[in-house]
Amino acid sequence: MRYVIVGGGVAGATAAQAIRRLDADGEVHCFAAEAYPYYFRPRLWELIAGKAKEEDVFFRPVEWYARQGIQLHLAHKVTQLWPDLHEFEIEGETRERYDRLLLATGGRPFVPPFSGSDLPRVTTLRTLDDAHNLIEISKKAERFVVIGGGLLGLETAFSLLQRGVQVTVAEVFPRLLPRQLDQPGAQLLQATLEKMGFNFMLGAETQEITLSGDILNIQMRDGRILEGEAVLVSAGIRSNVDLARQAGLTVNRGVVVDNHLQTSAKDIYAAGDAAEYESTVYGIIPAASEQANAAAANMVNPGSVEYSGTLANTRLKVVGVQLASLGEAVVEDPQCDILRLINEETGKYTRLTLRDGRVIGAILLGDTSPFLPIKRLIDRGVDVTKVRGELLKEDFDLKEFSQS
Ligand SMILES: Cc1cc2nc3c(=O)[nH]c(=O)nc-3n(C[C@H](O)[C@H](O)[C@H](O)COP(=O)(O)OP(=O)(O)OC[C@H]3O[C@@H](n4cnc5c(N)ncnc54)[C@H](O)[C@@H]3O)c2cc1C
Repeated sequence: MRYVIVGGGVAGATAAQAIRRLDADGEVHCFAAEAYPYYFRPRLWELIAGKAKEEDVFFRPVEWYARQGIQLHLAHKVTQLWPDLHEFEIEGETRERYDRLLLATGGRPFVPPFSGSDLPRVTTLRTLDDAHNLIEISKKAERFVVIGGGLLGLETAFSLLQRGVQVTVAEVFPRLLPRQLDQPGAQLLQATLEKMGFNFMLGAETQEITLSGDILNIQMRDGRILEGEAVLVSAGIRSNVDLARQAGLTVNRGVVVDNHLQTSAKDIYAAGDAAEYESTVYGIIPAASEQANAAAANMVNPGSVEYSGTLANTRLKVVGVQLASLGEAVVEDPQCDILRLINEETGKYTRLTLRDGRVIGAILLGDTSPFLPIKRLIDRGVDVTKVRGELLKEDFDLKEFSQS
């Protein structure tokens, strides 16, 4: 059996390893457009902040792949796919054959269609090369504007602050982290981050960027203007679907997969930021690795493992700020019962969202220690009706209750 994996990120590397574990004899090929073996993208922030060395971002050396019998082809981009023929083309080379193929092509930063995004020192962060570029720019720039106050934008802003650069985050929503935090949580987080040196401009939609001399002017739709020597755009991601689309596979936001991670084409699977499962492109590492493991199992033994979605959970890593957001964290449905505990002095905020007596989402700001017990309650769909009044009390043993 000849397994071919397109993409060498977390989904591709996880799948390669899982296939090898399940099929000791099959040929496993991993084609990676980047020139590096799998590295941990969250570490790029530490690299930018000067807190990690280049070698710290890598997971496994190239020799590891060879020892596993995985043939890793770095700087080899797959440019075409013929599902009916079970063939694919590598850029500048000949066609090759596959028996089962995984699309683990990931995603890329989305840049909204404002003019000026192609100006010098207007950049994005996805890859190690992008991180190198950002480090070079920050050696000369004193003021950075980060467009996008989501998780990635805030984390990148923090790593730039640690380099001694001034940073202003411009967010189109009137609050930070709109997907992870509700209004009270966002206000509390903003106050904490401002104390750490962040500047914010909220409700600010970038209209265009212009260059005068060395200064970039970021013009907002409502007339406000920010100035800086550099701009980082962090406005979400788009799945890399070109290969799938050209091959005639069903593509929506991502490559559409079923609960076996199979695409609309026989013997072609997809996982990670490239894949769309039940209208969701997760864009997070836990989903990429769960999908990759399930896809790998099904590539070896078709139909053997069902995937049923990943609980969305995120943690902010900004030093000194603990934030975790789980499941349906920000939902404001009148059918839901929302429990809140807020302490403005300590910057602590806990919110639980209950539906039909069960926890379906949570926000933990300032103290993420209840993360695992709450995740367990959500995963198991535990009925918490009897302890509803106790759940947020400090002396309530959530850990024990979640295990009972
Ligand atoms: C700076 C940063 C920090 C992050 N931090 C977190 C975090 O803390 N927690 C979290 O859950 N998520 C985080 N994410 C998101 C997370 O990294 C992604 O969800 C994850 O990388 C998805 O893995 P993937 O393998 O699907 O895609 P990718 O990591 O994007 O890998 C896909 C690879 O496929 C390659 N490729 C694409 N097309 C082709 C082709 N045609 N031929 C060959 N190769 C191809 C690409 O070059 C890329 O290397 C972060 C992302 C960034 C950028």
